[in-house]
Amino acid sequence: MARLICRLGSALLILSVFLTGCAPKPTPHEQRFVAMDTYMHFTVYGDSSAAVQAQEEVQQLDQLLSVTDESSEVYAVNHRAAQTCDLSPELTALLEQALILARQTQGAFDPTVYPVVRAWGFTTERYQVPEQEELDRLLPLVDHTAPLLNENSLALPPDMQLDFGGIAKGWAGDRAAQLLRGKGVTSAILRLGGNIHTIGTKPDGSLWNIGIDDPDSDDALGTVAVSDLAVVTSGSYQRFFTSNGQTYHHIIDPATGRPAASGLTSVTVVGKYGARCDALSTALFVMGLEDAARFWREHRDFEAVFISEDGSVSVTAGLEDSFTLSPSQNRKLEVLT
Ligand code: ADP
Ligand code: MG
Repeated sequence: MARLICRLGSALLILSVFLTGCAPKPTPHEQRFVAMDTYMHFTVYGDSSAAVQAQEEVQQLDQLLSVTDESSEVYAVNHRAAQTCDLSPELTALLEQALILARQTQGAFDPTVYPVVRAWGFTTERYQVPEQEELDRLLPLVDHTAPLLNENSLALPPDMQLDFGGIAKGWAGDRAAQLLRGKGVTSAILRLGGNIHTIGTKPDGSLWNIGIDDPDSDDALGTVAVSDLAVVTSGSYQRFFTSNGQTYHHIIDPATGRPAASGLTSVTVVGKYGARCDALSTALFVMGLEDAARFWREHRDFEAVFISEDGSVSVTAGLEDSFTLSPSQNRKLEVLT
């Protein structure tokens, strides 16, 4: 009898697959949590324990990388007593990546920018506009060529401090995605604040449509359709404060120690590796459209959407077909070639 019911059940399942033309939809598992100072939301199809492990992975990295948590490894490095310190394999790998990206972007992305970021109060939310004398005193401490990494031993000049705020979410997204893929997950979307990481396609095989914020309103500017890629945005509208009617945002130009005034309000980078996309979104924002476009032409291993202060939008050639401007948007759109 039991066997008959079982047979009937599978016959009905086959019939329903035949009638609807598709297999039963895998169950989405949602993880919502706060880490790295932002909201995170993972949707993983199929494997609930993998979703929980991906969250744990990100929380562990947060504990390692926080500049404010006194028990983090980065805090220990930034408050070191000696000139050299031994790093964990994890932090060694991240710092190596960060220094490579700093070199490639000629310091537009610079993980030694922390003394200046702290002076503006961006990590503590005790915002203030530093005096020029203070910035002049701190700027010599910002120099990505100074940290000397020998295997896992790091030598840093006195008072130099590290900040992975511009790369950590991308790195964490890569780690979470790697863990999920290793567990056989073929469909997931990970949202780490402004960083999106996609694994495979949606369960029905279609691309993920990732919204890009309009810096000037609550609407979406547009979408990019992707699979298996990271989509990372850095924008001056994401974290800022106002003082005496002036707005100050959190993307610092390491050359001046002040919020980058490059004519851009948002940069979205689309590519395979979240850490690279994250650092590049910060760096290209600092560079401004012209230098950023030159950087893209030299590298071509990522694509980007730039929004300028005058409202115009520029997308790199590889996104011409996958980027769609929202119908409500009346903006000039240029394709960079
Ligand atoms: P978000 O953290 O909002 O996603 P970003 O990825 O652009 O934005 O990173 C900004 C953070 O990175 C800042 O809060 C600061 O901690 C750090 N940062 C700011 N300017 C730079 C820079 N030029 N290079 C490296 N890190 C930076
Ligand atoms: Mg970034």
